[in-house]
Amino acid sequence: MASDSTTRPGDATGSLSDPDTFDSLDPATGTVVATFPVEREPVVHLAVERARQASGWWRSLGFAGRKQHLSAFAGELARRVDDLADLVRRENGKPRGDAVLEITLAIDHTMWAARKAEAVLGRRQVFPGLLALNNSASVEYQPLGVVGVIGPWNYPVFTPIGSIAYALAAGNGVVFKPSEYTPAIGRWLVDAWNRAVPAGRGVFDVVTGFGPTGAALCRSGVDKVAFTGSARTGRAVMAVCAETLTPVLMECGGKDALIVEEGADLEAAADAALWGGMSNGGQTCIGIERIYAAEPVFDRFVELLTERAASLRAGADDGADWGPPTMPSQTEVITRHLTRAMDDGGRTVLGGTQSVGSEGVGPTILVGVPEESPAVTEETFGPTLTVAKVRDGDEAVELANASRYGLGGAVFTRDRRRGIELARRMRSGMTSVNSVLTFAFVPGLPFGGVGESGFGRIHGPDGLREFSRAKAITAQRFALPVDMTSFGRPALATKALGLTMRLLHGRR
Ligand code: NAD
Repeated sequence: MASDSTTRPGDATGSLSDPDTFDSLDPATGTVVATFPVEREPVVHLAVERARQASGWWRSLGFAGRKQHLSAFAGELARRVDDLADLVRRENGKPRGDAVLEITLAIDHTMWAARKAEAVLGRRQVFPGLLALNNSASVEYQPLGVVGVIGPWNYPVFTPIGSIAYALAAGNGVVFKPSEYTPAIGRWLVDAWNRAVPAGRGVFDVVTGFGPTGAALCRSGVDKVAFTGSARTGRAVMAVCAETLTPVLMECGGKDALIVEEGADLEAAADAALWGGMSNGGQTCIGIERIYAAEPVFDRFVELLTERAASLRAGADDGADWGPPTMPSQTEVITRHLTRAMDDGGRTVLGGTQSVGSEGVGPTILVGVPEESPAVTEETFGPTLTVAKVRDGDEAVELANASRYGLGGAVFTRDRRRGIELARRMRSGMTSVNSVLTFAFVPGLPFGGVGESGFGRIHGPDGLREFSRAKAITAQRFALPVDMTSFGRPALATKALGLTMRLLHGRR
């Protein structure tokens, strides 16, 4: 039970106005997983200061030294995958298999960042151009200093590691504020770091608490904030960061669409749509929430989708396909979207409001929901799919793009080239053709959104550069007889320069 000074995530502002500690709970049983301090400004600032000091050593190791230590960290995650998966299952509620998949992805990304950092960020020569031919020119990407990472609860390992591993590989210190729903996982990651890299204590640290702890991290003088969470909180984070001109990376929510064209493999599309929309109980930022199926295949596709979805279920037991909602208040959002969809003229093919139960939320498939209804426009974050009938892929792209979000998406077509063409036209950061969510599995690809899904990129070379600043250097190799950057420059030289430009470019 919570003590007098302990509150719970989701207690609105808490029954106590200023708690000292908070509990994280097992969403399946409501039992306490662990109790953590609500850390306030002085403690947060201290963690950032420690990270700043420790990051001097970390930076001095260079790419090769950091690669070695990051590999040791990845090794520790790999050796303890079972422990961590158990904790993820308890604190987040997802099935064990999903937890293992998430941790596997985190390990793969950590290794990629460690191995590729030098090639992407290391110093390289650049052609100096006509006006500076007597110079060498180079660019390198230097660490920012200390990065504050604010994380969500839905992928409590993979999502923050997408910022943490890349920021560390770029040479930064990191202070991580995990979600108040999954603080034990955040603490576990830092403990694993300390075991794997004992000399690097403080380079990567954790602070626990609610929104105000995150806000304190934004105000702590960190050199960048990497935020993952809802667009609403993202706005609050940006407002606080604006006070100190602290740059931000925004990884926010989505309302991703899946397009099914005539000729596509409908069985594969239905299978993928269910995984994309309902795995993790739909609590996936890049989860499929809307489907646009071409008129000639619409009925058959809905039939296949419904047949398969009917055998899926939520629950706390090991045989369930997904767990209970990690954040219980999300059921109110799901119920509101389903109710409004019906009021607006939609039809429930499977599930509906009665599938929102205490053991979790069952699968729901809706058709004929108007495009203005919240089930189509707002992030539902439940195992629900709306399926709309469209003329073809072109109309589907138009409707998919008419969203304020734009994170991921998927296209199912017979012809791969047509799929890629539609994918390129989708207004989102990532799209997979004839599969779902695959782009997140590829460490070399950037991950991030457009519109209210955010800006900036994690993963891939862009994800490494996100946590660094470009440093340009020219070094004069020999002096020219005429110096164009001198007040002593002869008038004749300017004339000759103008003539050269006319000869080179004037006839275009
Ligand atoms: P949330 O916005 O409620 O919270 C995210 C984090 O922000 C938490 O750690 C929270 O404590 C912190 N926070 C809250 N108020 C703050 C403030 N004023 N200043 C600083 N920090 C503050 O989001 P959530 O419910 O934890 O996560 C779910 C959301 O995250 C969904 O919208 C989902 O789509 C999104 N998400 C996006 C990605 C992505 O990569 N784009 C990945 C996972 C989740």
